[in-house]
Amino acid sequence: MTPTTKDLAREALERSLEVRDGHNYDYRSPLCVYELCDKARVRVRFVDDVSMEGVYAALAKPSIILSSLRPLTRRAFTCAHELGHHVFGHGSTIDELKDEAECEAFNPVEFLVEAFAGYLLMPAQGVKRAFSSRKIRMESATPEEIYTVASSFGVGYKTLIGHLAYGLKYIPRERAEKLCKTNLPKIREQILAAPAREQLVIADRHHTMGTLDAEVGNLVLLPEGTETESDQIQPVKDVARGRVFRAVRPGLARVEADGFGVIVRVSRMQYAGLARYRHLEETDGE
Ligand SMILES: [Zn+2]
Repeated sequence: MTPTTKDLAREALERSLEVRDGHNYDYRSPLCVYELCDKARVRVRFVDDVSMEGVYAALAKPSIILSSLRPLTRRAFTCAHELGHHVFGHGSTIDELKDEAECEAFNPVEFLVEAFAGYLLMPAQGVKRAFSSRKIRMESATPEEIYTVASSFGVGYKTLIGHLAYGLKYIPRERAEKLCKTNLPKIREQILAAPAREQLVIADRHHTMGTLDAEVGNLVLLPEGTETESDQIQPVKDVARGRVFRAVRPGLARVEADGFGVIVRVSRMQYAGLARYRHLEETDGE
């Protein structure tokens, strides 16, 4: 009998909780998928010369290959997707570039790992907490607020919306479609009070991960009054929602404001190499 999407979603949810549990993560905190892969002994490498989302290679030493040409948030989600192929024992898989407009035939294996990635990175309790701690309601949150919550999980705006509507069923499909009509440049412009072509990552005062990933060239929005002695990021300007920095060189930047502190991990733009080395500082002569 072919499993229904409901069966597959339940299986994905259960397995995501088992994986969290098995590697000592709780069921409500955002996690770094690369750290999880390290713990699961799955090697993750970024490559910058292929046109695809990701590959899972079921070798003696299992590994995941991700395209560093894709946005940071996309890469993290694809990594969780490929980890899904690993934990479900699917064997080696190549995931071609996904065109969002493309309407593919239903594939139960792909549905299962997509749902797994959603539940793994955005667990129900964590999503509820992310909204309630910010005192925003899912039914009425603005695109800027949803973008901020997505950033707290290290996932993209539309990825969070899709999960809210189809995975968790917290918002109706019509609301998801309406939210998805607001494009990212518009959201960035609202947040930064000026148009910006650069990618934007955000850690606000409710950010529960101790880290925030960025690439050289990205803008980084941190709480008002945030200071740093690190030279990996430089302040650009203050806006109503906080202080905007720009990531300028790879490495770890410790940033602090009254009652707030994270490590901004900056990697080279479109870094190719092992995920675990992505924030190594570059020395002269490299
Ligand atoms: Zn896949």
